[in-house]
Amino acid sequence: MYPIQRTWSRTRINLMQRCPRAFVLRYGIAAYATNHPTGQMLKDSFEIQTPWILMQMSIRETIRDYVEDYQLGMKWSKNLIRLKFSQLFRYKIQDRNAIIKKLPKWKEPGSMFRTIKPEKHLEQIGSKRCVNLLENDSFIHLLNTMSIKPISPTKSKNIDGLKLYNSADFLAQKGQNSISLIRINLFGIQSVDQINYNAALFSLGVKNQTIIQYSWKNGRWFIHRNTVCEKEKHSIRRLIRLDSIEMERILKLVGPKNNLEQVPFADSSRACTHCSVRFLCPAKDGLEEAKMEQMSLMC
Ligand code: SF4
Repeated sequence: MYPIQRTWSRTRINLMQRCPRAFVLRYGIAAYATNHPTGQMLKDSFEIQTPWILMQMSIRETIRDYVEDYQLGMKWSKNLIRLKFSQLFRYKIQDRNAIIKKLPKWKEPGSMFRTIKPEKHLEQIGSKRCVNLLENDSFIHLLNTMSIKPISPTKSKNIDGLKLYNSADFLAQKGQNSISLIRINLFGIQSVDQINYNAALFSLGVKNQTIIQYSWKNGRWFIHRNTVCEKEKHSIRRLIRLDSIEMERILKLVGPKNNLEQVPFADSSRACTHCSVRFLCPAKDGLEEAKMEQMSLMC
């Protein structure tokens, strides 16, 4: 019922794996029914992020702004880094609160989301991570020896007919031949496999580039450098194709009248705890009961 799903992003795949039903609500109904009150409400609900995520997003934006100014010869002081981070974080909290204030108009329980104030400890954590990265010797070395340009987070690549959203944060260049992609992994250090998987993803569509990843763990930034061989690129493309087939299969389970009877719920109730659209889902009163009811309807 929806246009064939030809888009891949990490967010999509993570959501589909966490809960097929939330995936369908977000990338099926919310995406294609924005002119309908329920579609718009879904869209608004998915835009409401936790303060922790907003902190991470503010770190990324602060670093991007810093790098841009640095390239223009303007170096911020530590205090300015902290101020810029706090300002961005506060704006994001304000935007979040503005969406929440709009929601009651949709006559849905407003108690799901609460307006909040920027939490001091998150401001401290975020500004500390920004300062630590921007004072990291290897990051300073990159800034001083390469020309670095931010890559738009909404930039997509076309891989095997799929629109792939998974961009690195910066393109760093020194002369004609030395080109690197830099990624700031905000959600903590990952396993070696995860780092290699990330590198393979970022390397798609580019040639002979080093992928540099900064990941936060135990109060400091770790750096990983990878070059990705053709065999690894081939294998990641295969995985992406399989993901895409699965996304299409799940979207096709939606009935002609946006009937979700056949769309599975999350495997575990943990997924429901922070679900943005729990108030619209039969699992709000208990996941196991909702699953049993679904099974009886399908029999
Ligand atoms: S409440 Fe649970 S089952 Fe329902 S959409 Fe959210 S995560 Fe999925």
